[in-house]
Amino acid sequence: MSNSASELGTCPFCGSAIQTGAILVEYEAEGETRVFAECFECEEPVQPQ
Ligand SMILES: [Zn+2]
Repeated sequence: MSNSASELGTCPFCGSAIQTGAILVEYEAEGETRVFAECFECEEPVQPQ
């Protein structure tokens, strides 16, 4: 029950789980790959944590 391969992380604002299918943009910053994904609760792009 700990398989979360399809989950990117959680929304920093509301704590909802963000799925990989919600990715909007991937980019590199400070040598790391970061993503923005849409939170369906906030209806905004967020950076999953
Ligand atoms: Zn949210």
